[in-house]
Amino acid sequence: MSSPKTYVTHLECSMTGERAEADRVHNLSPAGWPLLVRYDLERMKGEVDRDAVAARRAITQPGFWRWRELLPVRRDEDVVSLGEMDTPLVLLPESAKAIGLKGPLLSKEEGRLPTGSFKARGLGMAVAMAKGFGITKMAMPTNGNAGAALSAYGARAGMETWSFCPEDTPDVNVREIAAQGGHVFRVNGLIHHCGKLVGELKEKAGWFDVSTLKEPYRIEGKKTMGIELAYQLDWELPDAIFYPTGGGTGLIGMWKAFDEMEKLGWIGAKRPKMVAVQAAGCAPIVKAYEAGNTHAEEWMDARTLAAGIRVPKAIGDFLILNAVRESGGFAIAVEDGDIERARTLAGTKDGLLLCPEGAATLAAAEKAVADGRLERDARVVLFNCGTGLKYPLPDRSKRLDRHAPLDLASILTS
Ligand SMILES: *Cc1c(COP(=O)(O)O)cnc(C)c1O
Repeated sequence: MSSPKTYVTHLECSMTGERAEADRVHNLSPAGWPLLVRYDLERMKGEVDRDAVAARRAITQPGFWRWRELLPVRRDEDVVSLGEMDTPLVLLPESAKAIGLKGPLLSKEEGRLPTGSFKARGLGMAVAMAKGFGITKMAMPTNGNAGAALSAYGARAGMETWSFCPEDTPDVNVREIAAQGGHVFRVNGLIHHCGKLVGELKEKAGWFDVSTLKEPYRIEGKKTMGIELAYQLDWELPDAIFYPTGGGTGLIGMWKAFDEMEKLGWIGAKRPKMVAVQAAGCAPIVKAYEAGNTHAEEWMDARTLAAGIRVPKAIGDFLILNAVRESGGFAIAVEDGDIERARTLAGTKDGLLLCPEGAATLAAAEKAVADGRLERDARVVLFNCGTGLKYPLPDRSKRLDRHAPLDLASILTS
């Protein structure tokens, strides 16, 4: 059986539309903006059957690798796989009730992916492309999960990787990066400071810079969330998608996927409201959205327990804001206290442990129901972007002395 071919044609500057050649190593466009990958959708429409692609279950094409025609990787031997899967959509009936939603409330459980977060999608794709280009050294700034995915997929592809993270990055992340063969540094600054370090060192060190949106293929990996979601919902998108937004790769990628799928005739014109969720302690996109601006200013003194969305400055800010506005969605910020309450709600009532960023989307949905921006009968998808197990959890256990007389009443009421 011949392997699926990609319909990639070229790349395009997301700001100026200037063309760039496919099958070349790229970072930003000559004008300094993210590049987007383009496909010959017209031809693909005539040649590729949606349901045949969706039905693909070959061992070499699990999870997001199934959508090869809409991905930039040409050769089978460049595919790097660690056992990807379609991440389940899990209903949150009790949480829905508690926040006043009638319609189905679904969590897309991205923590089930290799390395425990949706960063596997983007970095899997970036590493596969880099492998095809013969790149052997990659570096990036990371809040943890991206570095973990880079180190794992990089190790798998025989590459050397360097991750630079803020010094207060969750300990598990930092150790995980090293355990999968990556070099890892804790830096006394935030993620954009780490990005600056990579920028200063990369030329001398011979690193390929795989920073969010400074490399065009992570978006292509992340867009598979949108394709997979459509497929799982029988090709009808939900009413609203709540996405925890840092650099915004996933939100931009899904928006791109919806457009591509409509051109292919895979879905209709209906779009979900795209909701960019940020933490109140680091909400540059929300601020720009509310001010009606095209770009966001750097957020000073960023702080939140949701490390994955602590991104003070996103190079793709205009693409995030554009998707949010075009979709009729909005950008919304939630307090850390609300994030913790939402995590407790989903965990204790629905048995689903959310990561703080995933919990932020539940908190945001609650807020949006309360202020009327989300209809009570909306069909809503939250992105629980990583496994809740990577984050410090409060210790709510009690001590029991097995030598002391047992007091059953106090155990049962504890
Ligand atoms: C990276 C990350 C995010 C933000 O994703 P973007 O697509 O870059 O905005 C949110 N949550 C977690 C857990 C992450 O690792």
